[in-house]
Amino acid sequence: MFRRIVPEGGEPTMGKNIVLLGPPGAGKGTQGQRLAEKLDEPHIASGDIFRQLRGQDTPLAQKVKGYMERGEYVPDDLTIRVVLERLSQPDARQGFILDGFPRTEPQAQALDNSGRSVDVALYINAPVDVLVERISRRYTCPKCHAIYEASRRSPKKEMTCDVCGAPLERRADDAPEVVRPRLQTYLDKTRPLVDYYERLGTLVEIDGAQTIEVVEREVDRALRLPAG
Ligand code: AMP
Repeated sequence: MFRRIVPEGGEPTMGKNIVLLGPPGAGKGTQGQRLAEKLDEPHIASGDIFRQLRGQDTPLAQKVKGYMERGEYVPDDLTIRVVLERLSQPDARQGFILDGFPRTEPQAQALDNSGRSVDVALYINAPVDVLVERISRRYTCPKCHAIYEASRRSPKKEMTCDVCGAPLERRADDAPEVVRPRLQTYLDKTRPLVDYYERLGTLVEIDGAQTIEVVEREVDRALRLPAG
C-alpha cells in the first residue's frame, strides 16, 4: 500500500519542483535521471555535487571527503549553500528534480524559505534487506553518474559505462561497513521529512522494491505524465 496525497486529476506535473526522498538504494538516482529526461529539467543530486567537490585539492574538499567516507551527513550550512547555489543556475529556473536533498529538517526549511518550495515529494521506499543487497551490487559512472547494478542492470561491456564509456567504479561509501551507518543516519535525520512533506500535502509514497520499470510507471502516474 502506498499513500497518494497529491490530488487526483488536473494538469501533468511539468515545470515543477520535485524532490526525491528515500533511503540509499531505493532507486532515487535511477528514477531521477529518467524523470529529468522526460521533463527536460535538471536532475540535481547533492551526492554527485559533493563527489565532484571531494576530488578538489582544498581544505573544504578534505572535510567533505571525511564526512562521506564515514557515511555521515555534510553539515547543513555547507549543504544548503552548495545546493541553493546550484538551484540558482538558469537551467533550474523552470523546475528541478532534487535527489538526496533535503535530508534534514533545516535543509527542507531552507528550501521552502528560498522561494523554491516543493510541489511534489516522491518518497521511494524499500525494506532494509533489499537496500543492502542492491547497494552491495551497485556500480556508478564517476563521469556521467549513470547507475548500474550487477545482474539487474548490468552494463553492455563489463565495468564500462554504456552512456559515456568511462570505467565504472564502486562508491567508497557503498562498502558494507559504511552502508549500515548510512541507513541509520537516514532513519534518524531524513525519515522525519516524510512527515514534514505529508503535513504539507505534497507527499506521494512509492514502493521502491518493485522493478525499475514498475516504479517508473508509478512515478509517471503520480506526476500525471502521459504513459510512455
Ligand atoms: P548520496 O549520493 O545521495 O547517497 O550522497 C552521498 C553522501 O554525500 C552522503 O552519504 C552524505 O555524506 C553526502 N550528502 C549528500 N547529500 C547530502 C545532504 N543533503 N545533506 C548532507 N549530506 C549529504
